[in-house]
Amino acid sequence: MPSFQSYLKAIKSEVAETDVGQLRTALAPQVPPSGSASRLPAGPPQGPPTAAAPPAVIDVREQDEYVQGYIPGARWIPRGNLELRIEDAIPDRESPVVLYCAGGTRSALAARSLRELGYTQVKSLAGGFGAWKRAGYPFDVPVVLSQEQQIRYSRHTMLPEVGDAGQVALLKSRVLCLGAGGLGSPSSMYLAAAGIGTLGIVDDDVVDMSNLQRQILHSTDRVGVHKVESAARTLNGLNPDVKVVQHRTRLDSSNALDIMRNYDVIVDGADNFQARYLVNDAALKLGIPVVHASIFRFEGQITVFPGDGGPCYRCLYPSPPPPEEAPSCAEAGVLGVLPGIMGVLQATEVIKIVLGKGNTLAGRLLVYDALKTKFRELKLRRDESCPTCGTGVDRSRIELIDYNQFCNVLSP
Ligand SMILES: [Zn+2]
Repeated sequence: MPSFQSYLKAIKSEVAETDVGQLRTALAPQVPPSGSASRLPAGPPQGPPTAAAPPAVIDVREQDEYVQGYIPGARWIPRGNLELRIEDAIPDRESPVVLYCAGGTRSALAARSLRELGYTQVKSLAGGFGAWKRAGYPFDVPVVLSQEQQIRYSRHTMLPEVGDAGQVALLKSRVLCLGAGGLGSPSSMYLAAAGIGTLGIVDDDVVDMSNLQRQILHSTDRVGVHKVESAARTLNGLNPDVKVVQHRTRLDSSNALDIMRNYDVIVDGADNFQARYLVNDAALKLGIPVVHASIFRFEGQITVFPGDGGPCYRCLYPSPPPPEEAPSCAEAGVLGVLPGIMGVLQATEVIKIVLGKGNTLAGRLLVYDALKTKFRELKLRRDESCPTCGTGVDRSRIELIDYNQFCNVLSP
C-alpha cells in the first residue's frame, strides 16, 4: 500500500499546476484594484494580451478557512461538495478551471476528481491561498453567517426566497421604528427575531401601567422606565445580533431628517397626526419607504408609501383634521391585540422590502375589522396635485412642517 506522500506525488505528476503569479495575470482584468493594492508588491509582468478566457476559480477549502478571505472572483465549493455541485457551477467541461485550497494538496486531489468527471482544463494552484497571500495579492473577506446564525436563522435560510444571501441582507439592513408602543412592540420584536441588523427606536415616553394591555415590549417591572431603554432590553434579549439604537426624543422638523437618513425603511407606528405628516414628508424628501399603520378601537389600517414617490400619506389625507376631530386613543380605547396584528403585518412588509420579494402594500390600503374578522382592500392612487408626491413636485425641496396645534395623545 503506498504512503500518502507517494500517493500525492503520483497525483501531482498527473495534475497540471499553476502558480499564483500566473493566476493573477490570468485574472488581471477581473481582480479590481483594492485600496491596499498600492502598498503591495507589483504582480508579475503582464504578458501580451491573449484572447484566452480567464479561468473559473474555485475555492475548495472549508468554511472556517473561506471566511477569513478568498481570491476575488472565486466561487466557494467545499471539497466535500465539489463533485456534487461542479456540474451546476461549471456546465462546460472544456472551460479552464483553477482549484485552490490552503496549500495546494487538497486542490490537487480535487483536480484529479474533476479530471475523472471529464473536465479537461483543470489546474491546481501551487501553494494555494497561502502563497496568494504571501505574494501580497488582494483578497476579499466574505460576509457569511456564523455557525450560531446558521442555526438561529435556519427556518429562514431554507426558504429559497430568503437563503443565506437574504439573511445577510436582513442582517445588514437598518430599520427605524417610530414609537415603542402598541404597533412598535410587535413590529420591532418580529424584526429583531428575523435578524434585522440595526433597529432604531424613536420614543420619548416612559412605560405606564396602562400601556401593558398591548405594548408587549414592556413589562410590569419596567413601569417608569424609558420605553427606548425597555425596548432595547427586550430586543437584545431576543436576539443579540441586533444593534438597537435608542432615539429618546420626539420627532420634529429639526431632527427628523438627521435621524431618518440613517435607515433603509421606516415603520410608522406614530400615535399622532403631527408625526405622520412629518414622517411622510421627510421620507419622501430622503427617498425612504414607509410602512404605515394606524389603529382605532377595533379597526386597523396598513399601507406602504414607497420611497420613490407616491401614493403617500398626503394623497390619503392632504392636510390634518381640525384638532377637535382628531381621535385620541386615551378617549377612544383600542382592543389590545389589534396593534399586535397590524404591527406584525408591518414587520412582514419591511422584511419583503429588504428582501425585494413579493408584492408590498404600496398603492393598497388594507383595512382590518377585528369585530367582524374582515380584511378589506382599498386601492390608493397617487394624487396628481399632492403637495409632496404630485406631478412636478421637486421632493428634495419639501419643507418639513410641525403641526404644533395637536395636543399629545397617549400612544395607541
Ligand atoms: Zn402624495
